[in-house]
Amino acid sequence: MTCNGHEGGCYVCFDTQACTGCTRCVRGCPTRALRVRGGKVVCRTELCIGCGNCLRICPSGAVKASTTDLSHLKKSRISVALVTPILYAQFPGVLPKDILRGLKRLGFNHAVDMSYFFEMFQTATEEFVRQNRETGEAPWPLISPVCPVVMRLIQNRFPSLIPHIHPIKRPVAIMAKQVTRILSKHYGVNEGFISMYYINPCPTKKGDSPTGEPQSFTNGGPYAMGIRDIYTRLAHEVEHVRRIETIPMTLASYEFEQCTSGDGLLWGMSGGEASVSGIEKSLSVSGIEETVSMLEKIEMGLFRDIEYIELRSCTEGCIGGALTAIDKYLAKSASQQMVKLLGTGKRLNRDRITKLYEKEWFFSKRSEQGALGCSCHALRPLTIEQMRKIDALVRLIDGRDCGACGAPDCRTLAEDVVRGEVSADACLMLRARGMSGDDVMKHINSKEWDHACQRFG
Ligand code: SF4
Ligand code: SF4
Repeated sequence: MTCNGHEGGCYVCFDTQACTGCTRCVRGCPTRALRVRGGKVVCRTELCIGCGNCLRICPSGAVKASTTDLSHLKKSRISVALVTPILYAQFPGVLPKDILRGLKRLGFNHAVDMSYFFEMFQTATEEFVRQNRETGEAPWPLISPVCPVVMRLIQNRFPSLIPHIHPIKRPVAIMAKQVTRILSKHYGVNEGFISMYYINPCPTKKGDSPTGEPQSFTNGGPYAMGIRDIYTRLAHEVEHVRRIETIPMTLASYEFEQCTSGDGLLWGMSGGEASVSGIEKSLSVSGIEETVSMLEKIEMGLFRDIEYIELRSCTEGCIGGALTAIDKYLAKSASQQMVKLLGTGKRLNRDRITKLYEKEWFFSKRSEQGALGCSCHALRPLTIEQMRKIDALVRLIDGRDCGACGAPDCRTLAEDVVRGEVSADACLMLRARGMSGDDVMKHINSKEWDHACQRFG
C-alpha cells in the first residue's frame, strides 16, 4: 500500500499489488493528481484534494481511504463518536437516537449528534452576513467553508478566491472543541484523555484543518472513521437496540448530544445548509464539475449580488460521499422522510450565540497567507521558462490525450517531463515519429528550442 502522505495525514492510499494499471482513476481524477507508471498508479500528493473519485471508480479495490478502524477504540480512555446526519441517512426508517445507541454498543463512551453545532455555525454565519451587509468588508459571494474538498480546490486552483471563504469555524471544529472541553471538565481529566472519532462520509474530513483553524486536540485526533467501514457492525447493533430499549443514552446527558429536530438532517443534502439559514441571497451547488464551473464564474466576477454560496464536491451533497454505505438517492429519501417525522425547529438561545460572536469566538485563525491546511498542499509553481517549454512540448506531441503514457492528458505528460519526473519516452506519438526521450530533453534544454519545435513539428 502506498500512501499519498500529507503532513496532516493522507486522504487515499493505493494498493500497488491490487492495481492493474487500467488508468480509470487517472482519467477520473479532477485535479490530475494520478498517473500510471511502470503499470502501477502513482499519486502526486500536492494535487490530491481528497474528493474520493478514485475510490468510487477503481474496479480492483486498489484505493483505500486513510481512515481509522474500530480497533483504535481500545487505545482510547474516553471515546466520543462525532456523528453527522449523513450517518442517519444510511438507515432508512431508523430514528437517530437508535443509531446513537448503536454506536455506544459498538464501544464508544459517547455518541454526539452534530445538529446543535450546525445551529451554532448557522447563527454565527447569519450574524456575519448581516454585519457584512453594512460594512462590506468581505467580498461577495461568501463561500461556505463546510466542504473541505472545496477548500482544497480553492487553494490549488483558485487561490484568488481565498478571501471569499467564510471565516467562521466549520461545525465539526466547533463541535470537537466544545465537546472536548465539556467532557474533560465532566470527568476531571486532561483533554488528552478524550479521543474524538469523526464518523465520515468522505476520505478527507480527518484531523487536518482545511480552513486553517488551529487544532484543539492533544491526542492526535480527531480520528476519521469511514461510514461504510463501520456500517455492517453498526447495523447489527442498531437492530439490537431497537429490540431492547433499556440502554442508557450517554454516561452524562447534555443538551447538545441528541438530534431534536430534522434541521440537522437537511445539512447532509445539497441545499440543506442554505435552506436552514436566514440568508435569502444564497445558492447551492453540488458535484465536482459544477463546483469547478461555479468557482470559475466567481473568479470572473459573476454572482456578486449573491451573499452566500454552499458548494459541495459530491453530487447531491455529503450523502453522495465516497465513504457512505447506501445509494445517495435512497439516503436522500430517508433523510426527507425523517425530517417530516421529526419536524424542524431551533433550540439555541440566539442572544448567547451573538455574545460569543461578538467575542470573536467563532472565527478561524488563518495564517497571513490564508493557509488552508498543511504546507505540503502548496503547489511548486512553474517558471515562465518551464511553461514555455510545456507549451512547445504539447505542440510537438500533437496528440489526442490518448492516455497511453499513463498521464491523464498530453499537457500533464509535458508538465511531468519538464519537471523532470518522467521521460518523454513514455509518449507513443513521439516514439512513432522516431524521437527518443533524450532527443526531446536535448531540445527542451537547448536555447534553440523553438527552432527545434518547428523542425520536428
Ligand atoms: S483504477 Fe487506478 S488504482 Fe484502480 S486498478 Fe486502475 S489504475 Fe490501478
Ligand atoms: S482523492 Fe480525488 S483528487 Fe485525490 S487522487 Fe483521488 S481522484 Fe484525485
